[in-house]
Amino acid sequence: MKTIKIIGAGLAGSESALQLADKGWKVKLFEMRDKKQTPAHKTNLCAELVCSNSLKSTLLSTASGLLKKELSLFDCKLLPLAEKTSVPAGNALAVDRQLFSELVQQKIIEHPNIELINEEITKLDDELTILATGPLSSDSITEELLKIIDDSQLYFFDAIAPVVYTDTINMNTVYSKSRYSDENSDYLNCPFNKDEYLRFVEALNNGEKHEAKEFENDLFQTPMFKFYENCIPIEELARRGVDTLRYGVMRPVGLDDPRTGKRPYAIIQLRIENHNKTTYNLVGCQTMLKYGAQEEIFRLIPGLENAEFARLGSIHRNTYINSPEICNPNLSLKNKSNIFVAGQLSGVEGYIESIFSGLLVANIIDNNLSCLPETTMMGQLWRYLITENKHFLPVNANFGLIPALSEKFGKKDRKSAYSIRAVEDLTNFINSYKREM
Ligand SMILES: Cc1cc2nc3c(=O)[nH]c(=O)nc-3n(C[C@H](O)[C@H](O)[C@H](O)COP(=O)(O)OP(=O)(O)OC[C@H]3O[C@@H](n4cnc5c(N)ncnc54)[C@H](O)[C@@H]3O)c2cc1C
Repeated sequence: MKTIKIIGAGLAGSESALQLADKGWKVKLFEMRDKKQTPAHKTNLCAELVCSNSLKSTLLSTASGLLKKELSLFDCKLLPLAEKTSVPAGNALAVDRQLFSELVQQKIIEHPNIELINEEITKLDDELTILATGPLSSDSITEELLKIIDDSQLYFFDAIAPVVYTDTINMNTVYSKSRYSDENSDYLNCPFNKDEYLRFVEALNNGEKHEAKEFENDLFQTPMFKFYENCIPIEELARRGVDTLRYGVMRPVGLDDPRTGKRPYAIIQLRIENHNKTTYNLVGCQTMLKYGAQEEIFRLIPGLENAEFARLGSIHRNTYINSPEICNPNLSLKNKSNIFVAGQLSGVEGYIESIFSGLLVANIIDNNLSCLPETTMMGQLWRYLITENKHFLPVNANFGLIPALSEKFGKKDRKSAYSIRAVEDLTNFINSYKREM
């Protein structure tokens, strides 16, 4: 019988375990809680949801709804358990978190092919392994990982700037230019005059902010955090002085407007976020502002008055690796190919994305799954994890990842059209995949 070790019984590890056990693998699933807690988990149960109880929208016209639909087509194990323990939440799938985790735990314990072992794993050996220890991986396993990969390829914080959809940027206001170069650029520039800049700084100072979690506050004090200079929230820079931003991340030097030949008072640069050029990242705008405040304040940026956000910014504790650099296309480590990485540690972000990742890695291991249709959310999330990216950041499901449609649609219909195409392509793919199994 084929055997495998899975480290971490979170969302990814539990999904992988149930997938592989159902396919006849003997699974040893290791979970440290009980013996050792993380700073965020409260129970000893498998697949605990550490914060919100929402697994986001079920509407097929949303990125998260599409991912759920694709997962259910792919025989996801955790999704039906979430549906069974759901509580009313409009178009979202929200669960009774205790019942959900109890049910996952029960399925795992009752499965004849899974042995759940309460133990912290501190060493990575030569056994076939899925490493799914999550954003709060224990220190010992993190140190062990650092013996295999370079410390520049392991991150401890997410410093995420908002991302906007390209077709919602006012192209009459912004202009394309790299600093000091006249060549065509991967950057768009949002030019501020003095009044616009002062209004923006004032809004940043007054905007409602998230408090750092207690355990994050501790970390923010450590030298390790200080090392991550690009983690400093934009509102913190604004607080330091009215000119701090325009002499720092918003400095306009070398970015004269080619239409007027004049230098703006300040600049925010937008950097292409994905290979389809359907989304742009707001450079330097990582933030701890609350979501409502972010939408309001970042729409003060010239050119972004009507921007729609593919994702909003955040800064939080999150251990993850630079998968494109250190993983093979099958998500095993290049330097130790018996170790596969799944869940948030691999660079996905979010509950449902972590479940997806557990499912994906299990199918790669069991059946050598080597591709998924590029029109699907699952296919594009996988592609993101293995495509070289100078600015690799954790990814969540968003339509910006999906290749454009050949037909033109209005904004609302376009998302539904993406989903219809994805579901059709994945259904066809699964039919032939099952025939090959
Ligand atoms: C504080 C916080 C809040 C979040 N809130 C949300 C949210 O509201 N919505 C959302 O969509 N996403 C949220 N996320 C992001 C993410 O989706 C979840 O953290 C998700 O649970 C990640 O799934 P995972 O399986 O990768 O990791 P986890 O679910 O964290 O599972 C990893 C498991 O590995 C165990 N483990 C760690 N080290 C070892 C070891 N050495 N040996 C054995 N076991 C070990 C841990 O105890 C844990 O059970 C949040 C993340 C954090 C950190």
